[in-house]
Amino acid sequence: MSDATYTVAVRALCEFTAKQGDLDLRFTPAPTAQEGIAGHALVASRRGADYQSEISLAGQFEHLLVRGRADGWDPARNQLEEVKTFRGDLARMPANHRHLHWAQVKVYGHLLCQKMGLSEVRLALIYFDIVDKRETVISEQYDAEALRQSFEDQCRQFLDWAEQELAHRQSRDRALGSLRFPHAEFRSGQRPLAEAVYKAARGGRCLAAQAPTGIGKTVGTLFPLLKAAPTAKLDKLFFLTAKTSGRRVALQALTRIRSMDSSMPLRIIELVARDKACEHPDKACHGESCPLAKGFYDRLPQARQAALDLEFLDKQALRRVASEHQVCPYYLGHELVRWCDVAVGDFNYYFDSSAMLHSLTVANQWRSGVLVDEAHNLLERARKMYTAELERAAFKALRRSAPAVLKKTLDGVNRCWNELLKNQDVSYQVYDSVPAKFIAALQRAVAAIIDFQTENPTHADSSLQRFYFDALHFLHIAELFDSHSLFDITVPATAAGGGFGKASVLCLRNVIPASFLAPRFSAAHSTTLFSATLTPSHFYSDTLGLPADSVWIDVESPFRPEQLAVHVARRISTRYQHREASLLPMVELMAGQYGRQPGNYLVFLSSFDYLQQVASLFKSRHPDIPMWEQARQMNEDERETFLQRFTETGRGFGFAVLGGAFAEGIDLPGQRLIGAFIATLGLPQINPANEQIRQRMAAAFGGGYDYAYLYPGIRKVVQAAGRVIRTQDDQGVVYLMDDRFDRPQVRSLLPKWWRVTALEEG
Ligand code: SF4
Repeated sequence: MSDATYTVAVRALCEFTAKQGDLDLRFTPAPTAQEGIAGHALVASRRGADYQSEISLAGQFEHLLVRGRADGWDPARNQLEEVKTFRGDLARMPANHRHLHWAQVKVYGHLLCQKMGLSEVRLALIYFDIVDKRETVISEQYDAEALRQSFEDQCRQFLDWAEQELAHRQSRDRALGSLRFPHAEFRSGQRPLAEAVYKAARGGRCLAAQAPTGIGKTVGTLFPLLKAAPTAKLDKLFFLTAKTSGRRVALQALTRIRSMDSSMPLRIIELVARDKACEHPDKACHGESCPLAKGFYDRLPQARQAALDLEFLDKQALRRVASEHQVCPYYLGHELVRWCDVAVGDFNYYFDSSAMLHSLTVANQWRSGVLVDEAHNLLERARKMYTAELERAAFKALRRSAPAVLKKTLDGVNRCWNELLKNQDVSYQVYDSVPAKFIAALQRAVAAIIDFQTENPTHADSSLQRFYFDALHFLHIAELFDSHSLFDITVPATAAGGGFGKASVLCLRNVIPASFLAPRFSAAHSTTLFSATLTPSHFYSDTLGLPADSVWIDVESPFRPEQLAVHVARRISTRYQHREASLLPMVELMAGQYGRQPGNYLVFLSSFDYLQQVASLFKSRHPDIPMWEQARQMNEDERETFLQRFTETGRGFGFAVLGGAFAEGIDLPGQRLIGAFIATLGLPQINPANEQIRQRMAAAFGGGYDYAYLYPGIRKVVQAAGRVIRTQDDQGVVYLMDDRFDRPQVRSLLPKWWRVTALEEG
């Protein structure tokens, strides 16, 4: 082994050496991270004044440095405590979980004896029930010598692996240090972007980069981050995307970068959602139900080694290895993240409330470099991550089909739900707080479902499962409830009236995710958020909680103003009350442009209703011009068919919805798309929920209307218009169909390189 030291967290060491048997998620998912933190704090508060919480401990064995934080030490009783929160019946905790807990507390025991010079210590596992707040203590006296031997045994089991990892890291960093750019030259704008990413990674800063489409942002961010990894001492790189297509592009870029050095030892993993990776969707994730969970940890070492030998682990490769070793591909992926250099996955792997990449970063004290692709989507996505809903209709159906043993607790939830609705006589109402009685009833229901599932491991009931996860999420989000969110109840009245309550939806609606995201940015060594639309910067900075010292860059567009004629049709108003009157002028504007320059155009409307009105008038007045429409729910094939109409020699109009599937992330270069017509400012609909958002935004940041309506709307418009010019050879036209595009404030939100002219006749 080399002289370098390999550092490993206590938890990671024990998970490597002491995990055995089945994968079993019946016990572990119940307490949320927040419940865990609160449970630990409560246990600590019950101890004496001398009690020491969160003691940092470290110890070395040969070239291995083991470190971690023990939960608590009571010096008066010389008792070292490891606290584990749980929900349900402790007797049902799988034996392999207990085995792992003992392994951890014994390592801490050794490190504490060493630090304090103790000859013995009492080790205690404190199991804390988060529902009834009771502690079950299992303790044993150990002498320091026995703990030392146990520690060294664990370390010995890990040393070979640590040596392999050290060698990998050294050769990885050597190769990355001399990495060459994977193309003959940088594209226009790509170099300043790459330089900014490199500097941010070296300086440990957060960077927000507005960079136009077409400059190669994926390579332009991945390459400099990889290049900076050795000097910035980055352990991990995360490329996070909002869409599957973004993952694909990132994996292609990484393949290209790796191809520059055939011997480059770079381990890359694609993280796929559970429903896309699961081989047995009808089963539950434990050994009594799923064969790929049975003996998972016993077969994991071989699967892990085989996977890492491959290095490039996209969905297909991971599935192959998992199948060869008969382990679950989804959870194999989770295990491998620890040992990979680059993870490519959805935003939620780092930003949601129990995000794996974030927890691993914190637990292992990794220096992580994070890239956030299409970052303008993060606000909406983060709101969803921190929002929870419960639907009455689904709950009622569950009550009818649920096993009899659950009836009592579900009835309890139902009674509390009825009480919530008693005083509501409007269809939408916001409340100041989440009623404690309802939460308590929901907690009891969740505990009962856990017990039921543990007793009936093979009982498959998807509606029960769904309610269980929805309820857990609701409870978790309720704990976090604050002024960043609303608690609202929607009770749509039936057409006949009097239907209140039947279809009610309880929603904990996050409005400003900044306080949830800010710790994510601070946990990363460096984060780069990039997108073609991050204007205005204060809107994204405020709502996403970016660090105050974030660097902002606006990469100059490689496109020339002559490439794109942008016209404001200022005689058209698309305000709701003027919709009817707007139809004919819009249709004639489109037909006029087509008459002057036949080719492929996209028309963006703010809703399907509006789309249908415009499309049907267009069809009746210009039956000879080809046209095709986006439908409400298109599958992947239908979307592809829609896009295939845009050929180099094609002609006609594709009607689509602003903010929908064809308004961003699609690439129609050259003659495939020569123009776009955009009706409305893309403003979210004015409704009670959005009005509440406006008020919260006003209270937090001042600009309520701008933050709730204008900025998100114009962002959609700019994204949609961005479909027209994709390369430096493209030429095109954009019509902004609403007089409000003539306002200076709105104009200031449009890309600087656009040359906008007002159209008198439009
Ligand atoms: S294959 Fe599916 S059911 Fe089985 S452990 Fe994996 S995710 Fe769970």
